[in-house]
Amino acid sequence: MALINSGRINFYYSGDVTLYILKGKESDLLIDTGFIGTWKKMQNWINQYNVKHVLLTHAHVDHDFNAARLQERGAKVLLSAADKNLRQNFLSQPVKPTAPKYRLRNITQLVGGALVKSKPYIPDIYLKDSDRDLLKSLGYDAEIIPLPGHTYGSIGVFSNGVLYCGDAYTMLWKNPDVTPHAVSIRDMEKSLKTILELNPKWLACGHGVPVKMSKARPVIEEYLKMKAR
Ligand SMILES: [Zn+2]
Repeated sequence: MALINSGRINFYYSGDVTLYILKGKESDLLIDTGFIGTWKKMQNWINQYNVKHVLLTHAHVDHDFNAARLQERGAKVLLSAADKNLRQNFLSQPVKPTAPKYRLRNITQLVGGALVKSKPYIPDIYLKDSDRDLLKSLGYDAEIIPLPGHTYGSIGVFSNGVLYCGDAYTMLWKNPDVTPHAVSIRDMEKSLKTILELNPKWLACGHGVPVKMSKARPVIEEYLKMKAR
């Protein structure tokens, strides 16, 4: 848990992945589930909460690895319907570098992604684009924001000035940056524009610690400008 001056962002940051808790009226929502090795380390943190719902920002293994374990503990798992086939099958969606410097990294991602698989799980709720207000019906003051691009079914959660954006954007290298891989560069650009328009105070990414939008905005704008050239 961490206190950030614009409000409270509850997060667990393990170095390679970042998980978030959104407190609801009767239960708590976990955003993403971590990767191999996260489960043991996250127990003290997660035991402070009453997690009844788990939202996966997308079905990559470093986000859904522990979804089955959370289901076993009685939580309901939510995933975009557009990522249904991505579970246990990383190569079912294309993976493209978002900049020339990521070409080599893209190859290692493809190999790694094909080798490591999450424990199988079947989401309790498959989200459609029209389900933006579904979290409200579950007792959370939050809106689901479709942010396709990193994967077809990438989604974010917008609540109290914070956009929990999964891998639609990243703090992977401790500075705000465009995520190195996308299923569709064009969709990712559109989602970056959505983020600019939404203009949250904070971006809470799937990797790294939350960043103020004022720091991320110039990096996003520069990337979009470069792509438009
Ligand atoms: Zn990812």
